[in-house]
Amino acid sequence: MSIMRSVLLAGSQSAWLRNQAPRYRFVRRAVSRFMPGEKVEDAIEAARALEPERIGTVFTHLGENIADRKESEEVTHHYLEVLDKIAAANLSTEISVKLTQLGLDLSDDLCYENLKKVISRESMSRTVWIDMEQTDYVDRTLDIYRRAKSDFPNVGLCLQSYLYRTEKDLDSLMPLSPAIRLVKGAYKEPADRAFPRKIDVDENYFKLTCKLLDEEARALNVRAAIATHDPDLIRRTEEFAAKEGIAKDKVEFQMLYGIQRSAQQRLARDGYRMIVLISYGDFWFPWYMRRLAERPANVWFVVKNMFSG
Ligand SMILES: Cc1cc2nc3c(=O)[nH]c(=O)nc-3n(C[C@H](O)[C@H](O)[C@H](O)COP(=O)(O)OP(=O)(O)OC[C@H]3O[C@@H](n4cnc5c(N)ncnc54)[C@H](O)[C@@H]3O)c2cc1C
Repeated sequence: MSIMRSVLLAGSQSAWLRNQAPRYRFVRRAVSRFMPGEKVEDAIEAARALEPERIGTVFTHLGENIADRKESEEVTHHYLEVLDKIAAANLSTEISVKLTQLGLDLSDDLCYENLKKVISRESMSRTVWIDMEQTDYVDRTLDIYRRAKSDFPNVGLCLQSYLYRTEKDLDSLMPLSPAIRLVKGAYKEPADRAFPRKIDVDENYFKLTCKLLDEEARALNVRAAIATHDPDLIRRTEEFAAKEGIAKDKVEFQMLYGIQRSAQQRLARDGYRMIVLISYGDFWFPWYMRRLAERPANVWFVVKNMFSG
């Protein structure tokens, strides 16, 4: 792992920085590149603007690791309102939640009750996605996903290709006909759990992509969301899908709002299913630091904002 990435990921966990950074206008300005605004209404407006380009959306409210039951219920209530607002706006937007926001640190049962409320409010034709967080949460997240999948058909899970264990996890989930959003993984993980070299993370990503799109997965009706901005992996996915004879509208890519805009537009234009995840909320600091860590060149963007008007 590069020194810059380590420093940025360590910074993402600093409470002091989290309190200080949002006070600066240049930081807020730099963040706006990846986030249309702090309110769900800002996300709705951004989703509307993407619709004519045939780009769908998923919303996520930024925040993690809440400390008490009341807070977990507030987040749940917030998501219920968001689903109503999405329906009122006539958008096909889905949502993605972090289990630690729904109370996973307090109790699995509380978290599951909150999650159930959210999934019950969602239309059956749309998926409620569950984010994957740090490795210490993976087992419990998988347990909750399995529980949810036995109660509801429309729940999806994020899996991270940087973890050695993910291939086995995916194999064990396959019989459930899951919806899987495949990512590389955004957290700082030790070498005994995650591939330290980017090339191995990338190769594992492609291996898992093939598993998610192959004949067996298609027969099981797996929904695969290939969530990466990596041009090489996107090209390899397109080639694999063409070789397997999969129609373009059955291949789904997901990316983050504001990242690789032209690739998003190109994939949508070419007929692939293209979905952009839009984050909003005022707890954006750790999330933003993870975005900087993904591409240290983004740090220069922050610095440039320091000196521009
Ligand atoms: C829809 C979606 C949902 C996600 N959910 C989760 C989750 O639940 N759990 C989790 O751990 N991670 C999640 N992630 C983050 C993911 O793990 C990666 O950290 C992130 O997507 C960057 O990896 P990459 O696949 O784009 O490849 P990388 O190798 O990091 O990037 C490939 C190229 O994409 C571009 N790029 C990537 N990131 C940026 C950036 N921040 N700014 C500018 N350019 C960039 C650069 O050109 C870079 O060279 C999610 C990502 C997406 C797209």
